[in-house]
Amino acid sequence: MEEETRKTNSNKLICPVCSAVIDNPDAERCENCGADLSTIRSLENFTQTLLFEARNDIRQREFENARIKLEIASTLDEKAEITSRLIGAEIDVLNHQYQKAQAIYEEVYESGFNSSPWGIDLESKIAELKTIIDIEFAAKEHYNLALHRSREGFFEEAREELYKASDLAPYIAETYLLAAKVDLSLGAPSAVFDDLVRFRQLCPDDPRGISMQRELENRNHKSHILSNQFIFAVCFIAFAIAVLIIIAFIK
Ligand SMILES: [Zn+2]
Repeated sequence: MEEETRKTNSNKLICPVCSAVIDNPDAERCENCGADLSTIRSLENFTQTLLFEARNDIRQREFENARIKLEIASTLDEKAEITSRLIGAEIDVLNHQYQKAQAIYEEVYESGFNSSPWGIDLESKIAELKTIIDIEFAAKEHYNLALHRSREGFFEEAREELYKASDLAPYIAETYLLAAKVDLSLGAPSAVFDDLVRFRQLCPDDPRGISMQRELENRNHKSHILSNQFIFAVCFIAFAIAVLIIIAFIK
């Protein structure tokens, strides 16, 4: 019963002593038990400020700062917990973690909320995420097909599947890593370079992207050395022939 009251009155103050719902927004004392409400009011104001700042951090894409503020807010004030979770789900969406976000929206919706405190209709949000997750699933199927085709040596077909995957879900980094390998097999070094740039934009710290880029640079370096050696050999032979001709001429 108490839980129900809290849910339906999520914007109203609850007396910390007797749990009565305080209807008057300016009341200094609880109408039921007379408890002083100033401390809980300043705590509420503080958590509201934290939540507001967390949303600002998200706009600046400072997700770590936002997460810390959300955690403090939900620890200080249990009423802020649902709001914190919904704001956290916004971070998940921006990080393309759609399933994680959808799970949060569904849990909040199933616990009896229809909209977020800032007015987002949870049902339509869940439906919207479902569409995105379906598209992502289709992209992953194209990726898997590309993986099979490339293992069988059908690189052209693999490349086509990877284009489809990246058109549907351009944020999936694995697509570009496989594309780099496929483009390497197709003998398209500039395409490999572009693929690796995309991969490293999405996963700057992933060692696979870094090591593949090094491998590519080594290859270029080696082919450079080889071409230098070739030019040297040609010059040497030309010089030797010239010397032989001169000697034959003198004789
Ligand atoms: Zn009270």
